[in-house]
Amino acid sequence: MTAELASIADGTADDRPACAADIPSLERLLGSAAGQTLAAEVGRSRLTAILRQVLGEARSGVLAGTLSANALQAAVLLDQAQSRIVAQDQPRLRAVYNLTGTVLHTNLGRALLPDQAVQAVVQALSSPANLEFDLDTGRRGDRDDLVEGLLRELTGAEAATVVNNNAAAVLLMLNALANRREVLVSRGELVEIGGAFRIPDIMQRAGARLVEVGTTNRTHPADYENGVGPRTAMLMKVHCSNYAVTGFTRSVAVAKVADIARRHGLPTAVDLGSGTLLDLTQWGLPREDTVRETVQAGADIVTFSGDKLLGGPQAGIIVGRADLIRKIKKNPLKRALRVGKLTLAALEPVLALYRSPELLADRLTTLRLLTRPPAQMQRQAERLQGVLQQAVGDGYTVQAAAMFSQIGSGALPVDQLPSHGLLVRPAGAGRTGRSLQKLERWLRQLPRPVIARIAQDALWLDLRCLEERDEPAFAQQLQGRAR
Ligand SMILES: *Cc1c(COP(=O)(O)O)cnc(C)c1O
Repeated sequence: MTAELASIADGTADDRPACAADIPSLERLLGSAAGQTLAAEVGRSRLTAILRQVLGEARSGVLAGTLSANALQAAVLLDQAQSRIVAQDQPRLRAVYNLTGTVLHTNLGRALLPDQAVQAVVQALSSPANLEFDLDTGRRGDRDDLVEGLLRELTGAEAATVVNNNAAAVLLMLNALANRREVLVSRGELVEIGGAFRIPDIMQRAGARLVEVGTTNRTHPADYENGVGPRTAMLMKVHCSNYAVTGFTRSVAVAKVADIARRHGLPTAVDLGSGTLLDLTQWGLPREDTVRETVQAGADIVTFSGDKLLGGPQAGIIVGRADLIRKIKKNPLKRALRVGKLTLAALEPVLALYRSPELLADRLTTLRLLTRPPAQMQRQAERLQGVLQQAVGDGYTVQAAAMFSQIGSGALPVDQLPSHGLLVRPAGAGRTGRSLQKLERWLRQLPRPVIARIAQDALWLDLRCLEERDEPAFAQQLQGRAR
C-alpha cells in the first residue's frame, strides 16, 4: 500500500488544496524513520539530491494549485523518492526473452556463452590472471598466445590474432597489408553488414584502394586476372553474409582466386563473416565453408567473428600465414583494437569445446539452440498456449503454431529452420495493427522483457530460444500479470 492510500485508510488523509506551508523541510524528511532507513541503503548524499528534486516538484505543484495537502505528507514524498531510486537502479542492460526466432540476433547480443565460458569470465573479473605474462619464463607474454594454439589446431592456419570484432579484423588486416595499394574485390561481394560496415568504406578507412572486378551477378577468373596491376596488394573475397545472388550468377571459388593471386606473388584474404569451425551439415544445418577449408583452399588470411556461428564472445579472429599475421600484429591499429581479458577468458573455453565435436550440440549454446528438435518446441508451445492466453485475455486468441526461425547475424541468410511457437491475433475484427502493437509493447515492458515480432497481422513468439530450463520463470512472469 502506498503512503497516500495508508493515510486515507487510517483517517489521516487531508484533501484540502496544498499551500507552501504544507511542504515538509528537507531536514524533517531526512530525519524521519523512513528517511533514515533509505539513507542507510543509498547514502545520505544521494537521498538528499533526490529529495531536493521531489521537493522542487512539490513546490511547483503547490504554485500550480494541482496538489492536495495529502500529497505533501512526509511519507508520500519519501515514497516518491524511493520509487525514483528503484527506477534509477534498474540496470539499462537487462536480460530479455528472445522470442524473435533469430538465434544470433545482433540487437539482442548475438551468441549466448556456454557455462564454461561464463565461469572463466567470472574468474577473470575477480582474480589477477596471466593475460600478458609468460608463466614459463616469468617474462612479459603476448595475450594472443592464450588462444593461438587452439586457433591453429582448429583451423589448420599457421598463426592467429584476435581483435575487438570482425569489422576491426578487416580494417586492421587491410591497413597492415594493403595501405596505399589496391585490393581486388568482386562487385558481387561489396557487402553492407547492418550498422554501417560497408566493404568500400572500410577499405577507404584502412587506406586501401578498392578495385572492383566483374559485375554484380557474374565474376570470372579473367576479371581478377585483368584487375591485377603494379599497385595491387591483394585479392580479397567477402562472404555474402546477409543476401544471396541467385539466377544467372557466377563467382570464383577461393581456390581459383588464390591460384591467380599466387601466380602474381600476391596474398588472398577472405572475410568469412560468420566463420564456422566445423561442417554444420552433420547437425542438419545448411552448408557453409569452414575456416579450415578456406585455409586449405589457399587463403593466406581469413577473418571471422567470435560471436556469430562460432558461439563465443564478441571478437574478430584473424588466422593465416605466419609472416602476414606478424605484420598485422606489428601494426599500431592492433593495439587500438585489441581485446580485453574478459573476451579472451570467454573465447578459450568456447574454442576448447570444438575439440569434442560429438558433444558440441549439447554444450555450445548457439549450436544447441540451432539444433533443437521441432517436436520439443511444439510441446513447449502446447504447454505455454494456455498461460499466454490467460495473460493476454479474451481480446486475443493464442495458438500453438509451426513457424520458421533464422540463424541470424548474416549467417546462411536464406536458410530457415523449422520451429514452433505461439501465434497471437486480435479476437475481434478491425484495428488489428494497433492492438497487436499494444500487445507487443506490453510484452516488451514486462520486468524481464519478452521480445516478439509482428508479421502478417499476428504476433509471433518463436520458442526456439526459450530453453526448457527457462520455461518455468517465463510462465511465472506471465501468470503474475494478466493484462
Ligand atoms: C558480420 C560480418 C562482419 C562484421 O563482423 P562483426 O563481428 O559484427 O564486426 C564483417 N564481414 C562479414 C562478411 C560479416 O558477415
